[in-house]
Amino acid sequence: MNSVLRADDSEGLRSRIKAVGYAAKHCFSHLKLLEFEREAAGEKEIEIRVLYCGVCHSDIHQVKNEWHNTIYPCMPGHEVIGRVTRIGPGVTRHKVGDLVGVGCMIDSCGHCEPCRSSNENYCESPNGWLGTYNGPLIPADRARGNANIYGRDNTFGGYSNVMVVKEAFALKIPPALDPDAAAPILCAGVTTYSALKRWGVKPGKHVGIVGFGGLGNMGAKLARAMGAHVTILTRSEHKCDEATQMGFTAMIEDDERALRASAGSMDFILSTIPEKHDINPYIELLKRDSTICVVGCLAPLEPVDNAEVILHRKDISGSLIGSLRETQEVLQFCAEHDVAPDIQVIGVDELNDAYHKVEKGDVRYRYVIDLTSLQGGSG
Ligand SMILES: [Zn+2]
Ligand SMILES: [Zn+2]
Repeated sequence: MNSVLRADDSEGLRSRIKAVGYAAKHCFSHLKLLEFEREAAGEKEIEIRVLYCGVCHSDIHQVKNEWHNTIYPCMPGHEVIGRVTRIGPGVTRHKVGDLVGVGCMIDSCGHCEPCRSSNENYCESPNGWLGTYNGPLIPADRARGNANIYGRDNTFGGYSNVMVVKEAFALKIPPALDPDAAAPILCAGVTTYSALKRWGVKPGKHVGIVGFGGLGNMGAKLARAMGAHVTILTRSEHKCDEATQMGFTAMIEDDERALRASAGSMDFILSTIPEKHDINPYIELLKRDSTICVVGCLAPLEPVDNAEVILHRKDISGSLIGSLRETQEVLQFCAEHDVAPDIQVIGVDELNDAYHKVEKGDVRYRYVIDLTSLQGGSG
C-alpha cells in the first residue's frame, strides 16, 4: 500500500485515503472509472485492499435505478473479498494480512431487537442497515423523523481498490476457499443459505429451486450439500441441460407435463428470479404445509391464486440476505462441504459487457471482478 494519509484538520475531520473504482453517474450511463476518497480506518475499523468482487443482479437493478432509490454516483459491489492492509485502534478480530469478506451490509444500529438477536439484516432502526453501497437501506427522506443515523447518504461498494469497514462487518474467509469463488457466497450464498436453513432443509427433503442464475446455482449446491434432493426449474433449455449435468433434477418451468408429475412433491421451494414473476405454477408443486420463499424479487409478484394456498395450507414467504452470523456460517459450511459457486473471473474493463450478459442470463453462473486489474488510486 502507498495510501496517502492526510493529517486530521483543525475541525477534527477524519483523515482520508485516495481510492478508485467503477461507478455509474446516471441511470442510463455505463460504469466508468471514478477517483474518490474514503475515510481512513478509525476506531474498530479496518482498511482492505479489494481483490475480488462478485457481480450481483442487484448491482444492475441499482445502477439502473430500477428500485427508484439509487443515489449517484453509484458504485456497486457487495460480494467483496480483500486483504486487510491497515487496522484502526481497538481492532481485535482481524489483523493485517488476513483475507476477509464484506457482504451486503457495513453497519446496523446495534440496538434494536433484531440487531441484538443477530438478525441485523432486519435492523428496525429508522434507516434499517447501512448498505455496502447506496447508503442506508431507508434513506432519510423515507425514514421516521427524516433521520439518518449513519450520517452518510451514499456508500461506495466493492467495485473499487480499497474499502474501509467496521471490523464486526468483515467476515473471516476460511483458508480452504478460493478467494475468487468465495466472493459470491457473501450475497448469493448467504441469501439462499439463510432461507434453506430457516425452512429446515435436510436429508430426505425435496427442494425446488426456481431460476438458475447466480443465486439458483448457489442455492442448489447448498441444498444438495444439506442432503436434500434438488429440482431446478428454469426457462432456459441450456441451463436445464447444464443443471442435469451437475447432477440435479431439472425441468423447464413451463413444461406442464413435468410440472403436473411433480405436483405436491416438494417440501420447500426457493424462488431466485430477480424480477416480477408468476409463482402460481410453483405453489402447486408444494406439499401441504410447505413454503415457497421468494428471495430474488423486490417488487410486486403476479397475483396469487389463494385457493391453492388455502386448500393445502401453504405458505408464501420472503427472506432478505442473511445475518453476519449466517454469513460466517455459510462460508464455513462451503469450506467444510467443498461447495463453491461456478464463476467467470473478469477484468474491470469487461464490466459493462458483463452487465448485458447478466441481463440476458448469459453468465455461468456469476461474474467475479478481479480488482487487481484496476489501476490508480492508492492500490
Ligand atoms: Zn447481491
Ligand atoms: Zn438495528
